Amino acid sequence: RRTITRLPEWLKTPIPAGNDNYKSIKKDLRGLNLHTVCEEARCPNISECWGGSNKNAATATIMLMGDTCTRGCRFCSVKTNRAPPPLDPHEPEHTAEALARWGLGYVVLTSVDRDDLADGGARHFAETIRRIKAKKSSLLVEALTGDFMGDLDMVKIVAESGLDVYAHNIETVEGLTPYVRDRRATFHQSLKVLEHVKAVRGQDNIITKTSIMLGLGEQEHEIVDALKELRKINVDVVTFGQYMRPTKRHLKVEKYVTPDEFEMWRQRALDMGFLYVASGPLVRSSYKAGEAFIENVLR
Ligand code: SF4
Ligand code: SF4
Repeated sequence: RRTITRLPEWLKTPIPAGNDNYKSIKKDLRGLNLHTVCEEARCPNISECWGGSNKNAATATIMLMGDTCTRGCRFCSVKTNRAPPPLDPHEPEHTAEALARWGLGYVVLTSVDRDDLADGGARHFAETIRRIKAKKSSLLVEALTGDFMGDLDMVKIVAESGLDVYAHNIETVEGLTPYVRDRRATFHQSLKVLEHVKAVRGQDNIITKTSIMLGLGEQEHEIVDALKELRKINVDVVTFGQYMRPTKRHLKVEKYVTPDEFEMWRQRALDMGFLYVASGPLVRSSYKAGEAFIENVLR
């Protein structure tokens, strides 16, 4: 196969300067000791997520439970170790305190996978969410969790902690899952996680969300099949973004999907009944999540 080395034009975006909202959110972050994925991963969407026209919709993603994952997915650049350092017991309270002082409207809490912990970190996640809501109930909270190795009791612990959106990413179509994700992850296990959130909270009381990377070699009919499976279990939101290879040791990009094709997938997913869909070359699962929630759920 031909190796694609040159980036298409639509992926070469200059980092925009950012408006006043962006600047004030950025300034407020100083001294809060929060680790945002937005800054650490140099996310190209930062001025849109932190800025935007509505300050109540400002969105950021925070990484909990350290920087070392017990899994090794072939698309991901997070470092891997079977025995990461123990959790910081003060992290839930410190995170809540800092978020209550920061001027966000919507926060996405995510983490590495911690298969080394008996509960996979579910209680740590839940505790963080409870403390955030206790300090600032107006802050919308999304948790983007792993699959807890299919332990649905752990999914329940997070689902019942008071969050607004539960996200778990299938990442790719069923057929590519064994090549793309760590072998402990399976397509059906991920569907079960998303299904269980609604079983615990009620179909209409929580938003479920997932994300699919395009450009890994998936076929059109496989994407349609994945979307059908997601609709069957009432997943509300789906996002599509371009897979970008972090280093040469990671999976190759098989295709750069064009902006028109992303728009086609956005429309097709909406036609299938998803509540809202973000789709574009640079879209990440948390892309402008606050704005989307306010426009589609709270209206
Ligand atoms: Fe942060 Fe996610 Fe937005 Fe990127 S897409 S700036 S990581 S909230
Ligand atoms: Fe990366 Fe998540 Fe896979 Fe860990 S489980 S390697 S953080 S994608």
